[in-house]
Amino acid sequence: MATLTLEDKRVLEDSIRDIPNFPKEGIIFKDITTLLNNPKALKILMNHLEERYKSYNLDYIAGIDARGFIFGSILADRLGVGFVPVRKKGKLPYTTVAEKYSLEYGFDEVEVHIDAFPKENSRVLLIDDLIATGGTAKAAVSLIDKVGANCVEACFILELDFLKGRDGIDSEVYSVLHID
Ligand code: AMP
Repeated sequence: MATLTLEDKRVLEDSIRDIPNFPKEGIIFKDITTLLNNPKALKILMNHLEERYKSYNLDYIAGIDARGFIFGSILADRLGVGFVPVRKKGKLPYTTVAEKYSLEYGFDEVEVHIDAFPKENSRVLLIDDLIATGGTAKAAVSLIDKVGANCVEACFILELDFLKGRDGIDSEVYSVLHID
């Protein structure tokens, strides 16, 4: 089983740095660059994710722009499956399908290539570093659906439980660490 020991969880939690008031007043930004440059923490995390997902029979990992690309690519390689970037609008060069989502003020949009998941009815794991309100992940799950693939689970390194972001997501949700 892919359980983390309490000691493993502590190593991971301690490796994520809090940056108060970034990018604006009142937000505590969870900085995962200090997890990435800590080989022990990165190994614990990736071993855990590999162990959890090796039996999911996945075809692709889809990572959300930009930190989801890092964890998603490592995991895709470990599992021997393809990686698909879910990008912010205007970055992908070929024909795209887009999904809008609301922010505190206004909208943002994520996109994938129309042929991002070439295998029919493919099983996709969506991954990002953090789920807050869930708006980004919800849009990414519907994008995966729009282009004919199935999001079997959305995975996050960290979940801000008090924002209840998982409630709006039309997929199973798994988070490695939680903040109440
Ligand atoms: P949301 O759509 O509200 O769930 O926001 C999730 C996206 O915003 C993810 O791609 C996160 O990387 C980023 N994000 C939101 N809140 C934070 C935070 N407190 N610390 C770090 N990243 C955050």
